[in-house]
Amino acid sequence: MTVALPDNVRQIIDILARRGYDGYAVGGCVRDSLLGKTPHDWDICTPATPEEMKACFTGLRVIETGVRHGTLTVMLDGTPYEVTTYRVDGDYRDHRHPESVTFVRSLIDDLSRRDFTINAMAYNDKEGLVDPFGGWEDLSAGLIRCVGNPDERFDEDALRILRALRFASVFGFRIEPDTAASLRRQKQLLCHISAERINTELSKLLCGDGAGEILKNYPDIIAVFIPEITPMPGFEQHNPYHRYDVWEHTAVSVQNAPRELVLRLVMLLHDIAKPRCFTRDANGAGHFYGHQAIGAKLAQRILRRLKYDNRTVDTVTMLVRCHDVAIQPDARAVKRLLGKLGPDNFKRLLAVKRADFSAKSADHCARNIEKLDAIQGILQRILEEGQCFRVKDLAVNGSDLLALGFSQDKKLGRALETLLELVISEQVPNDRAQLLKIAETLKDA
Ligand code: ATP
Ligand code: MG
Repeated sequence: MTVALPDNVRQIIDILARRGYDGYAVGGCVRDSLLGKTPHDWDICTPATPEEMKACFTGLRVIETGVRHGTLTVMLDGTPYEVTTYRVDGDYRDHRHPESVTFVRSLIDDLSRRDFTINAMAYNDKEGLVDPFGGWEDLSAGLIRCVGNPDERFDEDALRILRALRFASVFGFRIEPDTAASLRRQKQLLCHISAERINTELSKLLCGDGAGEILKNYPDIIAVFIPEITPMPGFEQHNPYHRYDVWEHTAVSVQNAPRELVLRLVMLLHDIAKPRCFTRDANGAGHFYGHQAIGAKLAQRILRRLKYDNRTVDTVTMLVRCHDVAIQPDARAVKRLLGKLGPDNFKRLLAVKRADFSAKSADHCARNIEKLDAIQGILQRILEEGQCFRVKDLAVNGSDLLALGFSQDKKLGRALETLLELVISEQVPNDRAQLLKIAETLKDA
């Protein structure tokens, strides 16, 4: 098994070796390399203490990022490399932070404090792969498995519960049965984890290739920090448009959405109010009147609680509110909605509707996807041709109307809206002279 170490990493390991210290690439970078992915950063571990490391790296730029935890950052060619002393963690307080860390001289001890077998491998050119817990085998089988006793590992640091789901989603892996059973036993410990940490892990989980499968299988764990989803699993829709219950529909729609955080959050939350809005008509068919508006309120509350930024909260909330609006494949209708939403959010809405329909019954899906394709074509043409769909696209503006004798009041705004509607409905071309003539008639209206 070989890992192609970058020259800089090899150089750092060589510098340590010249002073008699081992050095290994470790953790995520080894895992990603073995998966054939390019690691986003390279971490190195060594038995040298921070003081000993400093003596090795004289002449290089070294930043003391976390000396107490044994970490120095070495800069090479403008790239930071974290070099960390082998360590073991002391007792954990608050199910997240160790009371203390102790530097040790054994690589295996350092690897044994790491969370999952696939994250507990080290590599250098001299020794090759150091893999005491079967990480390579689990990587090949696509399995997330705790190093050691899962109950203890999740109890020490509850963030690992969500990291397990995140890695499984990102790599499309399954969670090994003992680890999965422990996740469920220990899930309540997630209450000890800060909203910021949950946010980071949930966002990565949602954007993973295997997000649908993980959501489908672990709603009880997500429900620890989003209890609003609790009634969704198993909630039958009693409606011919649907082939899945509310939660499976949600999971499949997340999976079918592009891997953009906003879209995946919308899919996760778009039907969150369905259980509380459920009614059945005289024929027994299920309906969910008003779930869009109530869902938008719930989504806003959840996203704020999880500390998403205002822009994300606003965009997701808006898209949850309008995920069900009917759009006609007609240029005028498209331009009216485009004027309200703007091009970026209009495109997002189409992606949301596509993901939503693709998780309904096959027949209902096919008809509506065809309609969305037509709308997409119309949209593309409007944008390519620079057609007018906002007041600011009109060939006349407020100053033109003031020059005609309008005063700066509501009437001027209304006149511009009227002109826009005439242009959008193709009763009048977007032509300055013609619009000025009509504006003249609106002055005394
Ligand atoms: P990525 O950087 O792609 O998110 P990673 O595995 O590199 O994944 P980091 O958070 O950068 O994750 O951590 C680096 C390494 O440190 C991990 O591979 C793992 O060995 C160890 N590690 C990180 N967080 C924990 C944790 N909460 N418990 C135990 N070990 C951890
Ligand atoms: Mg990393």
